[in-house]
Amino acid sequence: MSPTPARITAVDTYDIRFPTSRGLDGSDAMNPDPDYSAAYLVLRTDAEDGPEGHGFAFTIGRGNEVQVAAIHALRHHVVGRSVEELCADPGTLYRDLTGDSQLRWLGPEKGVSHMAIGAVVNAVWDLAAKRAGKPLWRLLAEAEPEWLVHQIDFRYLTDALTPEEALTLLRRGRDGAGRRTARLLEAGYPAYTTSPGWLGYDDDKLARLARQAVADGFRQIKLKVGADLADDVRRCRVARAAVGPDIRLALDANQRWNVGEAISWTKALAGFDPYWIEEPTSPDDILGHAAIHRAVAPVKVATGEHAHNRVMFKQLLQAGALDIVQLDAARVGGVNENLAILLLAAKYGVPVCPHAGGVGLCELVQHLAMFDYAAVSGSTEDRVIEYVDHLHEHFTDPVVIRAGHYTAPTAPGFSAALRPEALARYTFPGGTYWSAGPDGRKGQSA
Ligand SMILES: [Mg+2]
Repeated sequence: MSPTPARITAVDTYDIRFPTSRGLDGSDAMNPDPDYSAAYLVLRTDAEDGPEGHGFAFTIGRGNEVQVAAIHALRHHVVGRSVEELCADPGTLYRDLTGDSQLRWLGPEKGVSHMAIGAVVNAVWDLAAKRAGKPLWRLLAEAEPEWLVHQIDFRYLTDALTPEEALTLLRRGRDGAGRRTARLLEAGYPAYTTSPGWLGYDDDKLARLARQAVADGFRQIKLKVGADLADDVRRCRVARAAVGPDIRLALDANQRWNVGEAISWTKALAGFDPYWIEEPTSPDDILGHAAIHRAVAPVKVATGEHAHNRVMFKQLLQAGALDIVQLDAARVGGVNENLAILLLAAKYGVPVCPHAGGVGLCELVQHLAMFDYAAVSGSTEDRVIEYVDHLHEHFTDPVVIRAGHYTAPTAPGFSAALRPEALARYTFPGGTYWSAGPDGRKGQSA
């Protein structure tokens, strides 16, 4: 008798919160005191010595329990499924999750419920890549184009991208993919750093970290703006003086402005030669982004970290509203939906510079950007992955930055697993850090 095929036995969820608000790391014009958090899950299986799947949604503190509950609400789609079938075709699960007729009411395909789908779907891809013995970016880059196309839900997309066009793009992307893979393993993928520019940092810290970024090999840094124009003028002057004229300076307003304000504020900072203005207004305002795009050129418009699904990216691209696609690994419905977004960007010839300001997002998006270079766009020109230099130590396979580049990950999987020590310490509210209470926490390093 053949052995029973391995099945998913549990979806374990964890509310993990890191106290980043203590140092104002991550602070911006709309999020002055974030506690970077992960609604984290582990797919358990009954496979003997088999790997587990890890995934998470990123939030910034309060409400992480809501995100965890949303992941928990999906477990009936996953528990009991064959591990082999799931990993051979994650697209089937993706369609089941987005098509759940009762849960769909909570979206559709947006917000907490969709981010939960993304977390579960990404955990399946992590499991699939581990079972294949490959880092996710290589699993994708070496997959058959037909299979990748089958992973994508083209509903609502075919007026902009058809399955046939996607197949053509992916087949074209195979030309030279081996050479580009070798190049990634040798030289990595260019990064830019947001770490100097958090809004809560004083000018001395900004200047010191900006100079350090250049010394470390970064060719682009990013500054948070949008709270106070006089402060922004001063901080841009400090940053530009620190890095000199040849380093790209990106600005990020985190949705702070109305359309008119976005235009006048960006123009007021144009003398500092900003490369892009990021999230100048509401992430849902496609026509607003298009108006800003027309008005502030040659400053580029970047957005995407809050674009909640492939349909938003489609419209932003159709409207000519953005110059930089900032996809996020944990905002949309996981790898499957990000495949669609990468191909939309390729069709419209717009570079992808993934968002990674959060916990674990650097670990995830590096795989998507490297797949894009190896087997879709074939280029790193004007493409950079965001980098923020905190909380990596909590991951079992943290990103490695060398000379301003992400080193290509080689460990099998999606780099999503947190260390057991992090779960024990930062689970909310029962982990050792949080249960110590305000007085007990004072003496602890964050
Ligand atoms: Mg941003």
